[in-house]
Amino acid sequence: MRRVSIFGATGSIGQNTIDLLRRAPEAYDVVALSGGRNIAQLAQDARTLRAEVAVTAFPERLDELRAALTGSDVQAAAGPDALIEAASRPADWVMSAIVGAAGLQPGLAALGQGATLALANKESLVCAGPLVLETARKGGGRILPVDSEHSAVFQALIGEELASVERVIITASGGAFRDWPLEKLPEATLAQASRHPNWDMGQRITIDSASMFNKALELIETKEFFQVPPEMIEVIVHPESLIHALVGFNDGALMAHVGPPDMRHAIGFALHWPERRKLPVERLDLASVARLSFREPEDARYPALRLGRAVMRRGGLSGAVFNGAKERALDGFLAGRIGFVDMAGIVEDVLNRFEADPGLLDGDMTLENVMQTDHLAREWADTAMQERAG
Ligand code: NAD
Ligand code: MG
Repeated sequence: MRRVSIFGATGSIGQNTIDLLRRAPEAYDVVALSGGRNIAQLAQDARTLRAEVAVTAFPERLDELRAALTGSDVQAAAGPDALIEAASRPADWVMSAIVGAAGLQPGLAALGQGATLALANKESLVCAGPLVLETARKGGGRILPVDSEHSAVFQALIGEELASVERVIITASGGAFRDWPLEKLPEATLAQASRHPNWDMGQRITIDSASMFNKALELIETKEFFQVPPEMIEVIVHPESLIHALVGFNDGALMAHVGPPDMRHAIGFALHWPERRKLPVERLDLASVARLSFREPEDARYPALRLGRAVMRRGGLSGAVFNGAKERALDGFLAGRIGFVDMAGIVEDVLNRFEADPGLLDGDMTLENVMQTDHLAREWADTAMQERAG
């Protein structure tokens, strides 16, 4: 029996992971499941999967969780420390699928105890790539990417030397507004930004796909995870979302990973690696696909990409600034405080303010510095939003 835990179990990635576990329940011993405010879902999954412990991220929901678990053997816990404690419990495989920088510490705890971390939470690598990799090295843990593009690159690299790689190309659907006239973007509503053309995902990453902040995070994730230089990493808009990434080699060959937009492929790959087991994903019928198209991402439509490139080159703590400011700006858009196109402006303001005092970006990559930087970036994003409103 493999001991497995899922952080962010109630979300889109978490539920897809549970779907796969349920297909072979005898193979897994579930240690911890975590969620947020969807207590009913968390309790129900913890009961049916017979988890050791269920954790809600929010302490004020602990009583509700306890009540929902009455009569079962599942322990109830709540809050950030409880998440870290649960992630420190010995497990063979841990899914990191919390959204945002909140996923960093549970992921570090899992790597520290030697688990294989299936990493959907790209924010961990964006905020603290070197720290995450070092924690894995020291703790004996291993990271397997779950982001579809990064899983695709990982698969294209099997059996290859990194030294023979010339370029890494990650694809982007272009998001909800890829075909909108640019001058209409300032009017984009929350409901419109929350509809992805191809993928069914959590709301935050869906909006980040429309702005391409998601792709910007993925550029940094690519650099940190595969340790390839920024100038080798490209983004191409591919509206069909069937090719997830391509790796180009010295001899000119391009290896592409092709499949339907279903996260159970990347999750299942990470769950069964190094084996390839049968997965319940649609098999592509190429004749009915008929056509794959590509185009350059437009700078004016996706300013987040330019910011992400600069951060990828800058390194240091700039990833934590970028992510923290982006999370706050997204909170602002979700709350109706700012418009869709304002998000990139806010993040740029915050980056400029940090850049003006380079000492802030060049501190050591410790957990404490990352958390402080994240905190300050959010504070300055709030200030930037207030200034815009006033
Ligand atoms: P989601 O919003 O559907 O789920 C997020 C999960 O995190 C939920 O379980 C929620 O309860 C929990 N959560 C929210 N705030 C929290 C906090 N402060 N502390 C602890 N837990 C909290 O998100 P998702 O779409 O499943 O994405 C999860 C992660 O996977 C993100 O990092 C995202 O970028 C990444 N990812 C998702 C997809 C996808 O297809 N959904 C694809 C690639 C990568
Ligand atoms: Mg992705």
